[in-house]
Amino acid sequence: MEYIKKLVDTQLANFRGKDEVVIQNRKKYGQEYSYYKKIFYDTDGIHEEQSTRMCMCEQCAGYRIIQSTAQHPRWDLNRVFCVSVPTYGCPECQKQAQRIYMEMAKNSNNFNYIYLQDRVDDVYKRIDTARRSETVL
Ligand SMILES: [Zn+2]
Repeated sequence: MEYIKKLVDTQLANFRGKDEVVIQNRKKYGQEYSYYKKIFYDTDGIHEEQSTRMCMCEQCAGYRIIQSTAQHPRWDLNRVFCVSVPTYGCPECQKQAQRIYMEMAKNSNNFNYIYLQDRVDDVYKRIDTARRSETVL
């Protein structure tokens, strides 16, 4: 019981201090925060290497850009470029993400697919760069 009480106190303190953590992280990381990770999906045998760039915003959670390569033993290497706007993304982040998607559509030689996930308008679309075609999913 003592453990549970300590756990609840810690979680409550974390929750109450979350706004200050956001402020400190914004000061520490500035306009962008990037991270890289390797993921192995053991159910399908897929190796993914993912690089994410979060574009911080004062008005919303900010949009993110993800570049990913995935390899399966029976597939060729696939490279994708994704830009994602959060559900409560602000108009400026939505505009920037759409602009980046359109620019990548014109100059996408390094990627098999270009994705835009716009959660504000519930739009999810993809460009197949080999076929030069766009699909709204
Ligand atoms: Zn924003």
